[in-house]
Amino acid sequence: MNDKIITILNLYSNDMNIYGDRGNVLCLQRRLEWYGYQPQVIEYNQGDIFPENVDIIIGGGGQDSGQEKIKVDLIKIGPKLKKLADDGVSMLMICGLYQLFGKFFKTSDGEIIEGIGLLDIETYGKSERLIGNIVTQSESFGDIVGYENHSGQTFLGHNVQAFGRVRIGAGNNTSDVSEGARYKNVIGSYLHGSLLPKNPAVADFLIEQAAIRKYGDFNVKGLDDSYVGQARKIAIKRPR
Ligand code: GLN
Repeated sequence: MNDKIITILNLYSNDMNIYGDRGNVLCLQRRLEWYGYQPQVIEYNQGDIFPENVDIIIGGGGQDSGQEKIKVDLIKIGPKLKKLADDGVSMLMICGLYQLFGKFFKTSDGEIIEGIGLLDIETYGKSERLIGNIVTQSESFGDIVGYENHSGQTFLGHNVQAFGRVRIGAGNNTSDVSEGARYKNVIGSYLHGSLLPKNPAVADFLIEQAAIRKYGDFNVKGLDDSYVGQARKIAIKRPR
């Protein structure tokens, strides 16, 4: 191991962390170690002091009630998050936090939860929940496999691109086969799973961008992902 530290900020883990989303942090920690870095994880919850130096920011999904709890604090730290995103920090936001990184989430009860507008997306709660295994196709990462469970349907604006195109499942909404959104090194997605352990190419993208931004280089060392490969094959064949 070298003395290069990569700091992961885990956003709102008390309220926004369902369907094993914490696995994304664990996956990054382990892969960073395998690549020879020293991972450092900082948990950020409401009222905490936002850390000075972060290299990767991770956020998970949550119930509408969890989104209600964190919304005021998120708006408060929004400008810092936007600045970091524009500065090239890697971020992965799943489901509930993906929605609130957008402009707003109008719940199925008609309540508007303001987002921070870092992603050019809008989300509308519907009566039908979109639930089940999902497979998407991404130009950068190939097949992406996961599990979705959301009432919100998200629509992309002009300043973001989709993270993937849906092959099996619903994704952002029931009409345009897009899934997730990308802006600079920020990825938003509905995929739990957890996403990163099931899709190591995405984990390596976040790590590589963080390492290059902080240290100027990333020495790619092929890791043995053969077990993940087998798990992915089975996950892709599972019924929705
Ligand atoms: N509460 C949001 C919705 O239902 C997000 C759900 C989630 O994070 N899984 O759309």
